Amino acid sequence: MIGIVEAIELVKTHSKPITKETHKSLEKAGRYSLYKNFVSPINMPPFRQSAMDGYALCLHDSLTYQLIGEIKAGDSLQPTLKKGEAVRIFTGAPVPDTANAVMMQEKVTVTDSQIIVEFQIDTNHNIRPVGEQVKKGDVALKKGTKLTPAAIGYLSSLGIQEVPVFKKPNIAIVTTGNELVEAGQQLTYGKIYESNSKMLQNALYNLRFYDVSLHKVEDDFDRTKSKLDEVINHTDLVIISGGISVGDYDFVGKALEELHVEEHFYKVKQKPGKPLFFGTKNNTHIFALPGNPAAALTCFYVYVYIALQKMMDASVVELPRIKAKSLTKFIKHGDRPQFLKAVYNDGEVEILEGQSSAMLQTFALSNALVYMPEDHSNIEIGDSVEVILLPV
Ligand code: AMP
Ligand code: MG
Repeated sequence: MIGIVEAIELVKTHSKPITKETHKSLEKAGRYSLYKNFVSPINMPPFRQSAMDGYALCLHDSLTYQLIGEIKAGDSLQPTLKKGEAVRIFTGAPVPDTANAVMMQEKVTVTDSQIIVEFQIDTNHNIRPVGEQVKKGDVALKKGTKLTPAAIGYLSSLGIQEVPVFKKPNIAIVTTGNELVEAGQQLTYGKIYESNSKMLQNALYNLRFYDVSLHKVEDDFDRTKSKLDEVINHTDLVIISGGISVGDYDFVGKALEELHVEEHFYKVKQKPGKPLFFGTKNNTHIFALPGNPAAALTCFYVYVYIALQKMMDASVVELPRIKAKSLTKFIKHGDRPQFLKAVYNDGEVEILEGQSSAMLQTFALSNALVYMPEDHSNIEIGDSVEVILLPV
């Protein structure tokens, strides 16, 4: 059994970026990362642009200018100004080549055909030069840049419709357990409704991983082995739920071993989620999560989340951890570090009742996990505790 810190390090070390390229239209490219340096096809701005509503001037020594015309945004006029001449101009409009500064309208007095500016201005004042943001042929965004809404806007301003991005992993969720029935089926004695597949699928959707397939297998060694063989060969990430503990009908561990999955760890000193497995085979990442639903989801956020970020080559791979003031007392039994379901709000955190690894009722109300290290046996009201913020 290894510790949490060591387990997290092993996930970081053995989770590799998916170095496959795919192309996405800009509207669907959000949160992907750029696969290569992206070169701008145009100068931005493409022409000398007025940054103000005001007057484009051909500068001279006097403060008085002759008004000879008007240019609105979108116009393609190119009047020739002589020294001492001005045109009315608006924000975003093209500044004629013969104008060398724009004076904001608030600093101008207008008479019939003349304007008087309040003071002298420098050449190029209030003119956005051609290619100020990026020049044609220069790198607009570097390889690996996360496509945020601002990045999508920027690429749109360059006329881009499609971008090369790192492919996201395709993911298989495999649930094990003879006791599980699907919603819609009758709940006969001894059965429970299956919850982990939809829960994990939704956690993945929340993180914008949509290529997720769901698989079910009974507690039977041969079927478990052949199902795992199939999904391991076809997916980048396999998330198994249940069957990884030490019961007589837990076949996942043995199946993974026979399939020659390289084990990076099995069993972590933590509560919940002790029977957690992580391994790889070729380029496939494999997690076997304990079947108890709250344990499965905790392990997803603490470990699988990191693997997903690594696979996307992200620079920040862990969920944010902050310090908060506890509003609740809590006594920890045993020496395993614990992740506690909690509600965080504005610097304060409430640890909820009902921390059993089987209970989703509490998790459903949580937006955070309080991390209680091994050597910490109780939390008092007002204590500063470590909080993991969940992406909910
Ligand atoms: P296991 O890890 O297979 O020993 O399962 C531990 C507990 O979690 C048992 O009570 C299972 O019935 C329950 N469990 C396992 N898988 C699921 C699932 N997909 N949905 C709901 N409960 C589950
Ligand atoms: Mg089971």
